[in-house]
Amino acid sequence: MSVVTSDIAPAQALLKAFELSANAIVLYDRTDHLIWANQVYRTRFMQHGLSVGATFEQVLRNGYAHGDGVKVDSGDIDAFVAAVLARRRSKPRREFATDLVDGTWLWVNEDLQDDGSLLCTLTDITSLKRTEHALARAHADALQAARTDPLTGAATRAWLLHLAEMAHEACLQNAQPMAVVLIDLDEFKKINDTHGHAAGDAVLKHFVAHCKGQLRPQDQFGRIGGEEFLLVLPHTRASDALLAAERLRQTLAPADTLRYTFSAGVAGARQGEVLADLLKRADAALYQAKRNGRNHCVEAPAVGA
Ligand code: GH3
Ligand code: MG
Ligand code: MG
Repeated sequence: MSVVTSDIAPAQALLKAFELSANAIVLYDRTDHLIWANQVYRTRFMQHGLSVGATFEQVLRNGYAHGDGVKVDSGDIDAFVAAVLARRRSKPRREFATDLVDGTWLWVNEDLQDDGSLLCTLTDITSLKRTEHALARAHADALQAARTDPLTGAATRAWLLHLAEMAHEACLQNAQPMAVVLIDLDEFKKINDTHGHAAGDAVLKHFVAHCKGQLRPQDQFGRIGGEEFLLVLPHTRASDALLAAERLRQTLAPADTLRYTFSAGVAGARQGEVLADLLKRADAALYQAKRNGRNHCVEAPAVGA
């Protein structure tokens, strides 16, 4: 069995490996003058006449002056240099990501040596960053899709109930009034049966646009069922919520030429009551509105069952 050994000294072998590394590798002395840089570092940061002996600050400023090197988001190179130099050598070991003018992302390792010199290794992580951005975008899109009803663009049931929980808790905690309005389109099945499902869909969209047009910024609105909607009105007494529901009812125009109506149940939050019970009372009021002949808004009793 033969043992293969290198025919060059270990230090030379190491230097050669560093020189040819795919990472950028550089050594600065204790006063931040460049002692040695490998091929990748020279190509990235020393293109414009810089050589051994240049300071790190010169490398930063030279890149900026030639429109390459490290990206300076603020455009203020003096402030940038000051901030970078204040962090540099602040710890024995630092790791961070930085981006370059050409869109490359680098992961930087800075190792402070016993003699005060600083060994920096920079690894290209551009593809990882792209994946990270794509995942973040996909996550944001998925959240948006889960929160938005695809037909009408209104909030979905799950998202609206979450928002309602937050508003309910905040209002009770601050002894503020809050009301909910549960809305159900009247005889909607008949609209579908008479004019077709597409006409029914158009009515749903029309109704959402109608309601959204009358909401205050703090109000929440969403589609919680087929033709059922919920309005959450923070800082609002039930009597004012009833007025708001009545205004919605009386100003409802036809969808195209198709006339339609809705019924609504209104309930005001009570101290100590959970949201589910508040919604139950609104539902009972809605039931009463239907019994009253539809196209009505009914307020749940302020006290008692
Ligand atoms: P009421 O006045 O008692 O509320 O009667 P209604 O006909 O509105 O109530 P019902 O619950 O019987 O019917 C609701 C209908 O809504 C039945 C269902 O097919 C329809 N629907 C549910 N979701 C959609 C949808 O996304 N598009 C359309 N076009 N119709 C839908
Ligand atoms: Mg219904
Ligand atoms: Mg209905």
